Amino acid sequence: MKKIKKKVKKEVFSAAIYDGYPAWIIVVTATTAIATYLAGGYIMFTLHFLTGWLYVAYVLIMECSLYKEACPNCCYYGKLCAFGKGKIAKLFFKKGDSKKFGTRKLTWKDLIPQMLVVLVPLLVGVALLISRGWNWLIFIAVLYPFLNWFMLNPVVYGQLACKHCKQGRKCCPALQFFSKKSKDNHKSHGKQSTI
Ligand code: SF4
Repeated sequence: MKKIKKKVKKEVFSAAIYDGYPAWIIVVTATTAIATYLAGGYIMFTLHFLTGWLYVAYVLIMECSLYKEACPNCCYYGKLCAFGKGKIAKLFFKKGDSKKFGTRKLTWKDLIPQMLVVLVPLLVGVALLISRGWNWLIFIAVLYPFLNWFMLNPVVYGQLACKHCKQGRKCCPALQFFSKKSKDNHKSHGKQSTI
């Protein structure tokens, strides 16, 4: 156990660039992402089985668009990236052109379809709590995305995924977008950026 702890600690705090990510990081990133989908799915199925299946279809479309549009052009295509998706993408889509990966500048407008995966169940969950009375499972399913956004994601992306990402060193629109937002945020609060 001590050896594993030492290995994990070394991997978290080193700034090594990974050609393939260690399995434990992929398990952590996959678990936090799947938990978000399960929380949203639980709320949407609680509302009605039709809205539940519509939600599942929407999540699958969102995931497939990543595998189809981004992963084939990524340097982790066919490899274990922080999310394990580079390997999965190779099963369904041909290799793309790595020069195309960073050509598009990310804006909030681009993020809306992904944010809906969390926002719609959130609103539905609150409406269910108001209209159908208190339900601990719904409350937890409403709360989890917040915890994920504000507490887990900074660690998962900041310490485990982006920090060791080869594509991020080359060019990554998401990393550029979020690092810029964070810098602007620091500036507006009169503090020097530490990123
Ligand atoms: S790092 Fe992102 S774009 Fe690259 S293979 Fe993994 S999920 Fe796809």
